[in-house]
Amino acid sequence: MTTLYEGAYAKLNLTLDVLGKRKDGYHDLQSVMQTISIRDDVEIDIGTGKEWKLLCSMEGIPTDRRNLAMKAAAVYCDALGKDPGGLEIRIHKRIPSGAGMGGGSADAAAVLRALNRHYGEPLSLPALAELGAQVGSDVPFCTICGTAMVEGRGERLRKLPDMPDCVFVVCKPEFSVSTPELYQKIDTAAIPVRPDNRAMESALLAGDLEAVARQVYNVFDPVVTAEHLELNYIKSICNSYGSLAQQMTGSGSAVFAILPSFEYAAVVCNMLKENYPQVYIAKPV
Ligand code: ATP
Repeated sequence: MTTLYEGAYAKLNLTLDVLGKRKDGYHDLQSVMQTISIRDDVEIDIGTGKEWKLLCSMEGIPTDRRNLAMKAAAVYCDALGKDPGGLEIRIHKRIPSGAGMGGGSADAAAVLRALNRHYGEPLSLPALAELGAQVGSDVPFCTICGTAMVEGRGERLRKLPDMPDCVFVVCKPEFSVSTPELYQKIDTAAIPVRPDNRAMESALLAGDLEAVARQVYNVFDPVVTAEHLELNYIKSICNSYGSLAQQMTGSGSAVFAILPSFEYAAVVCNMLKENYPQVYIAKPV
């Protein structure tokens, strides 16, 4: 039996635009995504000689084939005709669930990378990311990590220059948002403000953190904030203590702030911790 270890990195949407609904029911998106140092640890035993099994340290996460990590293992083995001879996946969870931080997708991507390494890298990283699209929309990006422009329903990726050095503070309020309901609510024809992804790309190319911060925008942010005004409270705390930008990630409910240094981030983190138990400090990875 062999044990594989892989980190599963959370993502933030620096920008998120919803362009329209497709005939297949999915929405076309355009998003600049960033992986951060908040991570789950994924361990895989290969060759257990038993039924496939998954253990997760967080309650409420499915441990059967609905778990995206299990699905990723099945998709990988099917696509490459591999039989691992029994498999056990253990997930030590740190990424908050229902946060818009792609926790399930990150675990799935980690499984894809670990299995591909175990079998001698038969797939290139772009091919592995393409396979990830069969598991979930955010899986391709979580497979490649870093900073990227993500389009379509998540399957079209283009690497961008790395995020300039900065520190993120991420705050996950108690409530969660149903992603399908949010997509139903957003009328793509009536989105009043959209991110300027070209300007974001230029700011990244210039390595200009303040310019990057000016382009941070998620079209879901005002829709969720209208129903959960506490997001404004979180953002105002961040803004008052030196944050360059503060915005919800993905379909929420986590809000992230961009700080120029760890000292600033520590102050924002301490202020938020007075009211919120789930506050994290992270670096771009
Ligand atoms: P996204 O940004 O992709 O919408 P999210 O942060 O909103 O992600 P996840 O943490 O990925 O949400 O979890 C959403 C749901 O996915 C959970 O309620 C859970 O039922 C299911 N799920 C399946 N596999 C996993 C996994 N490995 N980890 C966490 N959740 C998983």
